[in-house]
Amino acid sequence: MIRIHILGSAAGGGLPQWNCACINCVAARAGKIDPQTQSSIAISAGSEEFQNSWLINASPDLPRQIENTTGLQPRRDAPRNTPIAGILLTNPDIDHALGLLLLRQQDKPLIVYATDETRAALEWLESVLARFCGIEWRKVSSDFQRLNGSIAFRAVELPHSVAFQFLNEASGRMALAAPAVSELTANLSKASADSDVIFFDGTFWSDDELAAVRPGARSASQMNHLPISGGSLDFLRQLPARRKIYTHINNTNPILMPGSWERTEVEQAGIEVARDGLEIVL
Ligand SMILES: [Zn+2]
Ligand SMILES: [Zn+2]
Repeated sequence: MIRIHILGSAAGGGLPQWNCACINCVAARAGKIDPQTQSSIAISAGSEEFQNSWLINASPDLPRQIENTTGLQPRRDAPRNTPIAGILLTNPDIDHALGLLLLRQQDKPLIVYATDETRAALEWLESVLARFCGIEWRKVSSDFQRLNGSIAFRAVELPHSVAFQFLNEASGRMALAAPAVSELTANLSKASADSDVIFFDGTFWSDDELAAVRPGARSASQMNHLPISGGSLDFLRQLPARRKIYTHINNTNPILMPGSWERTEVEQAGIEVARDGLEIVL
């Protein structure tokens, strides 16, 4: 089996974001919608336990996410230990990599799978961690390689990031985690069509969404995120996957507000909106 657990479903900044007074952030502070931490997903093979868990991205909220997830906490039979086996990075964004620094108390190097480009962009972080546990880099591959137990994984290369596809070797079922997507490539379409469960980039509803709260802000496409409207919605709608879930959702995104027409449109397309703690077993 593959256990996929959403540790954080928000894009960089989280919900609410410290300096943001958009409708969603105000609603989250008022307890009208649930706060969400920054994007990270835990993958493990165990039925009950999270032993040998891998994280897709390590957000600045990681320590809090571990304390919120019993299965990611250390066992009590030894003073220092962790079920976290390592991290898979989709790209070098701060909200995906800063959590590595927060794992610095580890007694052996952190195992991190990433592309050469991501590794090069994180040289600054590598040099900070070198004074603590250090990093053991591993290369990602577009061919399946063993992750643990009965799970294999591969990287689906995209223009500015990678997505990860996971294979349950026992059942042949596959899951796709694509929290940072700038473009619908042929590779990504194929991987999406083959997957039973898909976690997809839900950062922005529209291309100019951020400019409404911050004049002059870059557009979604300039930030390498394909918007939902006019972008991923029609793509996901026609896929055969059993579950399709938007994650890595920016706090400005109207799909976060239950009852909004944008949320309704997503739901009518058969797509779910992720929340912290959502778990799927495949
Ligand atoms: Zn991000
Ligand atoms: Zn906001």
